[in-house]
Order: sequence, then C-alpha cells, then structure tokens
Amino acid sequence: MHPNDSSIKNIAILGSTGSIGTQALEVIAQNPGRFRAYALTALSNADLLIKQAIAFLPEYVIIADTHKYPYVKAALSHVPVKVLSGYDALTEVVTVAEIDTVLTALVGFAGLEPTIAAIKAGKTIALANKETLVVAGELITDLAKQHEVKILPVDSEHSAIFQCLAGEENNAIEKLILTASGGPFRGKSSEFLAGVTRAQALNHPNWVMGAKITIDSASLMNKGLEVIEAKWLFDVSFEQIDVIVHPQSIIHSMVQFEDGSIKAQMGLPDMRLPIQFALTYPERIKSDFKRFDFANYPNLSFEKPDMETFRNLALAYEALNKGGNMPCIINAANEVAVAGFLNGDVGFLHMSDVIETCMQKITYLTKPQLADYLNTDKETRILAQSLIQQMPKAAITI
Ligand code: NAD
Ligand code: MG
Repeated sequence: MHPNDSSIKNIAILGSTGSIGTQALEVIAQNPGRFRAYALTALSNADLLIKQAIAFLPEYVIIADTHKYPYVKAALSHVPVKVLSGYDALTEVVTVAEIDTVLTALVGFAGLEPTIAAIKAGKTIALANKETLVVAGELITDLAKQHEVKILPVDSEHSAIFQCLAGEENNAIEKLILTASGGPFRGKSSEFLAGVTRAQALNHPNWVMGAKITIDSASLMNKGLEVIEAKWLFDVSFEQIDVIVHPQSIIHSMVQFEDGSIKAQMGLPDMRLPIQFALTYPERIKSDFKRFDFANYPNLSFEKPDMETFRNLALAYEALNKGGNMPCIINAANEVAVAGFLNGDVGFLHMSDVIETCMQKITYLTKPQLADYLNTDKETRILAQSLIQQMPKAAITI
C-alpha cells in the first residue's frame, strides 16, 4: 500500500532502539497495511537506528546524541530518510502533520517535553514512558483534556486496567489492583539486598526490559511509579490503588467495581500485546502471540508486597499522597540512584536513602508549573549526585 494512504496510521516511535521500541517495530512489521513507522529516534545506538531506518524507511530518523550525527547521516545518504539530531529535534518531529500516534518509548524525565509537544500538536499518545506521568501527571492530563488528546497506556498493568474498563464508562471504580511480579528479589531480606550485584538485579524472572526499568522492578520502584501513573490515567485517589504481588505475571492487573465485582485482564507476559492494543485501539486485531493455557499454570499465587524491605514502594505512595512536585523529586532522585547503582557507585539499599533524603531536602511546591518541574528535576539530580559521592563506596560487585 502507498505510504500516504490515509487508512495507514503513521507512528512516531520515540526510543525505537529500546525494548519497547523494538517490539513496537515488530508489531508494525507484522501489520504493514495498518501502520507506518513515520519517525524513529534513539539516544545513541546509531547502528541499530541505521538498520531500522533501512528496514522501515521512515520519513525521519533522529539520533539525539549529536556526536553520532555524521555517522548516521553518512550511513543513510543513499536512502530517502531525513536525518536529524539533538534532543530538541524530538519535540519538533512529533508535531509533523502526517503523524497520527506518538509512542513514547524513551526512558525517564527525557520523555516529558516531547510528550507535551505531541499533545499540543493533537497527536494520540501511546504512553510507555511512565516517568512523564509520574513527574507531571496533573499538567499532562490537563493538557490532554484541553487538546482532546487520548493517552493510551502501553504499560502492561495500565493496559490491563484500561481493557477492564471498556464498557464501564458510567460505573465508578472502587479500587484498582496493580499486580507486581516481585522481581528477582521477592521474599529476600534487607541483609541479602545489601549485598546484591548489578547482574543479580538485572536478572528479571518474567520480563526482558531496558536496564533502568529492570532495576526499578527489582527495587519495587517500578510499582511505585506505576501507582502514580495509574492515579493520573484513571483519575482515582491513592487510597484506591492496591498492589498485590503475583509472581507468575499472568494477571496483568484488575479493577474492582462498587458492587464488589473484580475484572482481570490475563495473558502470557508479552509487551507486544499492550503495545499493539495501544496502536489499534479501539480495535483488536489478530496476532500470533503465544496463548496462555490454564493447564500449564495450576497455581496462580498472590502475596502482600513487603514495603518495609522494599522501601521505594512506600516512598512512592508517600510522594503521591503529598502531591505537588514530590513525585518529580522521587523520579529524579531515583533516576540518579539507579544510574549510580548500575555504575557500581551506590549499593542496592542505598538507592532508597538517596531518594528519601531528596524528598526531605528539596523545596516542596504544591502547585508546580512546567518551569518548576524542570527546576525540581535539575536540583534533585544535583543533590542526589552529591549524596552518592559522599557515600562510602558501596561494597558491590558489578
Ligand atoms: P530502553 O532503555 O530499552 O530503551 C530506551 C529508548 O529510549 C532507547 O531507544 C534509547 O535510545 C532512548 N532514550 C533513552 N534516553 C533517552 C534520552 N535522554 N533522549 C532520547 N532518547 C533516549 O527502555 P525500555 O525498557 O524500552 O523502556 C522505555 C519506557 O517504557 C520506560 O519509561 C519504561 O518504564 C517503559 N516501560 C517499559 C517496559 C518494558 O517491557 N521494557 C514495560 C512497561 C513500561
Ligand atoms: Mg508495568
């Protein structure tokens, strides 16, 4: 089919070389008559970006790391693809008229400004980048309302809830129940966690994901960020969001209604399904993803999360309860702490100390605007970095 055929959805993937980005491209490749990869972007993985550009022939390719621009440009000189570079190019490309949906699959605070630009340009948002809603949930959801833009969740838990809510538009939610796998350290003590290595933390039992979210899953910060994400996506209070550990990751999350009925969405863990649903919504299309068989799972189990050992989850609830710029503070402190852990500069448990100190020391603002979020993020990163430098070198092996 012709690329400008209006029945084809043009997708911009911010972060096409990552775990979500590459799986989104698999979905697009499976459905060439439905989707076109219109813009692909990466931070620094030039080789993969070049390969993707040659395979998908998008209109635009952006390599955010400007040092890699000449390399990407030269490699793509023989193909009809516009090559741009620099972080600001992300906020520009998402506004291009032909783009229908922007899949935010980049990691961290970096997703905030491009998402704002995409909403202002009226694009449908397929949101994987949960940090954007954690940092500035109120600002983003208000802006989406104002521009009548849909934010479709890609995160598996939120996609599950979104699917459970189909047809329930007039029924109040009593409770959202987010499931958590518990990560590689489920059931472990603080003594054990004090000595865990980067390799152990990166070894997630059920999902293969980018490094940052994998560490967040091991520390339960990922679930904390998801609680905050759920608050903004589904307009509930933090008291209405429960977390239950479900090690098999078959139930992706649940909604409890006011009559006591609970709806769950289930399936094998495979991110291509929520990615595909966000791209085809409100339609479901045929896929060949492996089907779940109850006979192979005689036991689906559930347990309470241990918020004393895994303090990050409790800190995230506290930040959500406080509101204002507090979630922005925990997000920035966590991004720095995770990078520190991955570099071997901070121990696993000390990540929570860094976050907690930032929550206490950074100026709390009740009604932050965009400039305040940018400031809070910057200040928190500086403080978190200095806290890590002052810490005794962690006794961890990489
Ligand atoms: P990843 O690290 O595998 O990929 C990140 C992508 O973003 C890469 O293409 C990278 O080049 C790009 N990127 C990173 N930093 C950037 C920056 N500063 N500027 C521009 N581009 C940048 O990450 P991932 O696991 O795919 O996760 C992406 C997002 O999706 C995260 O917010 C994560 O929490 C969320 N998410 C991921 C999964 C999963 O299964 N991987 C599941 C649910 C939600
Ligand atoms: Mg998730």
